Order: sequence, then C-alpha cells, then structure tokens
Amino acid sequence: MQNAQLINGLRLATAMGRLGTESAFEVLARAKALEATGRKVIHLQIGEPDFDTPDNIVEAGVRALRDGYTHYGPAHGLPELREAIAANSLERRGIEHAPDQVLVTPGAKPVMFYVILALCQPGDEVIYPNPGFPIYESMIKFVGARPVPMPLLAKNNFRVDVDRFAADLTDRTRLVILNSPGNPTGGAFTGEDMAAMAELLADRDVIILADEIYKDIIYDQRFHSITQFGDLARKTVILDGFSKSYAMTGWRLGYALGPRDLIDAMAQLQVNAVSCTAGFVQMAGVEALNGPQDSVHAMVEEFRARREIVVELLNGIEGVHCPRPEGAFYAFPEFGPDAGELADRLLNEAGVAVLGGSAFGEFGSTGMRVSFANSRENLRAALAKVKALVESG
Ligand code: PMP
Repeated sequence: MQNAQLINGLRLATAMGRLGTESAFEVLARAKALEATGRKVIHLQIGEPDFDTPDNIVEAGVRALRDGYTHYGPAHGLPELREAIAANSLERRGIEHAPDQVLVTPGAKPVMFYVILALCQPGDEVIYPNPGFPIYESMIKFVGARPVPMPLLAKNNFRVDVDRFAADLTDRTRLVILNSPGNPTGGAFTGEDMAAMAELLADRDVIILADEIYKDIIYDQRFHSITQFGDLARKTVILDGFSKSYAMTGWRLGYALGPRDLIDAMAQLQVNAVSCTAGFVQMAGVEALNGPQDSVHAMVEEFRARREIVVELLNGIEGVHCPRPEGAFYAFPEFGPDAGELADRLLNEAGVAVLGGSAFGEFGSTGMRVSFANSRENLRAALAKVKALVESG
C-alpha cells in the first residue's frame, strides 16, 4: 500500500502527493512580494488579457444581479446560455451540438478536472501536450493514469510529430488532450496535422479533450477544431470559455460541449463539487456571445501588433530563438538548458517576471513563457532588460 502524504503532521490522501499545481500563481506571489519591498516588476508571466471586460457584458451581469439571478440554478447551466453556446459553436465550428450536450462550468478549468475524473483510472494512458497547461499532467497523475507526453518543440514550430503520435497510441490510450492554439507555446496545429491525427483516432475507442479556449486569438491561419475532421465530434469534448476571448478570467465562466452521456457524468461531478455556475455570471455570458464582437477583434489586433514586437526583440537577443506565435498571447522562446535559472534571475535581478518552461513539462525546460498581455511600452522595456541580462552572461 502506498503511504499517505504527511505535511506538518497532517495526513493527506496518497493521491495528493501526485497532484501538481500551476506555478503562474506562485511566480505572481513572488513578484508581489518583491513589489511590496518597493521593487518595480514588469509582469510578463500573466495568463490573462490585460483588458477590461467589455461594458455591455458588465452591464448584462449587473442587470442579471438586479433581476434576481442570485439563486441556485440547474447543474448543467441556464437554458439561455446553453442554447447560446450551442448556436455559437455551430457558427464558429460548423458542428452541431444540442443544448443538452452543453455543460456550463465556473471557469473552463473544471472541464479538464471533470473529464479526467470521469474517464481515467490506473491502467489508462493519456496523451497530453508537453510543454502544455500544467493541470493536464497534474490531473492525469492524480487519478493514477499514465501521462504520455506529446512533445511540442520549437524546432517543429510547436506542431505535433504525427509519427510519434501514431507510435504512442496504444490499446490503453483512453484520452487524448489537444490544445490549439496552445498555452504556453502559442503554436497552432494546421488542418493537415488535425486531419492526420483524426485518421489515426478514427477507429479507436478513445475520447478527445479539445482545449479550444484560445480559438478566437489566432493570427495567420483559420482556427481548426478536431471536431471538424472525420466523425471525431462524436467522441470529442470541447473545452471553451469566456476568460480569454472576453477578458473575463475573474468571472469564472467556461463550458464543455460533447457526447451527452459524458456531459451528464461531468454534470454529476459538478453537482458533487459546486452545484452550479453563478446565474448572473451566466447571463453576462449570454450577452458576450450574442452581443457585439468588436472588442474581441480589437483585442486580437493589439495582440497581433505586440506579437511582432516580442518576436523581433526576443530574436535579437544573442543565442535566443523565438518561433512566431500562431495564436494565444504567449511567445515561447528557446533560451537553452539554463532557462529555469535565468527566469529566476530575471525576476530577482532585472524585475521581469516570466515563467520558466519547465513549469509546463519536461519538454519545455529549455524555453520560457513570455506573455504579451502587457503594454507595448512595458514589453519593450522588459525585453531590453532581458537582453542586457542574457548578453552580460
Ligand atoms: N486551458 C488553457 C490552455 C488555459 O491556458 C487556461 C487558462 N490559463 C484554461 C484552460 C482555463 O481557463 P479558465 O480561466 O476559464 O478556467
């Protein structure tokens, strides 16, 4: 029998020893501690848009509070929002889902929690992006399944290595997690990549978790969803939400679209954990989807301009290679084997907060995530400091 975790005499369940975390929150805490001592820090570790939630959405939330959307609601979400999500997904992806194939969640993160808890157990294998959002690996390990990394490397422009993917699929593969456009790489899979993966997945008894939270933030190519290939929509859970597209991270509003039975199992987990998502927040979500989209477009255009600045300045640093991000608001430059140590030094010596790539998995350890959710001026100032520190050795 495995031992329980002992922390200061507190006996935690064994599985807690396998649970990871999201170090963006730790780096933020360290940066804030430095700022409390009077030091200036430029924040490039940020995982959220530096824009305010658009006014029409805020107003809709306030109105809903006044109109009494302050009670418990259905576990699956309010019918108005589930319908709006299904209609929006049909428009954006061309794939039909009935409203009862939608689960509304407090933030998109619970979707990965629920899918992995509902499907995976010891003996199962889960293929997941590495470097990738740290919660995937954390949850796979927590439930006792085997994490099988899908390496996403700068030298391949962060695209999938289809041959390796084919070799990694086994009879034990229960779940495949895809995230395109991706955090932390900013990479996006091409239609060709998706088609090749879809062909390999077609006859297998696996579920796909398609994390599409950055679908609206894409620069050069059209957004591709794995659900558009073959008949994969049948066995895919789409994870999406409002945090990135509408600058609504703190509202906590996300959703899943997927096979009805799995959505129902996830709703049962939701009842056990949080009962439901706040009603007034959901009404703000209806306005986000059905109201004007100009603020989304304006935000993406600003990110596009910043991307050019960041890519040029990073590639201008000796020894650094930075692929041009295809989507999201992250660059993931290669700094070499000392990237983690350098990230620490950047915070402590230069007052620039970034995330060392190993926070996103073993295949990210030579990179660094640089978020461009900060002003052009701050980006220029911070990257000048990075250049000075790196080139001074
Ligand atoms: N997936 C990815 C890839 C993300 O980067 C994030 C947020 N950083 C999420 C999911 C979770 O989004 P939310 O804040 O809505 O829970």
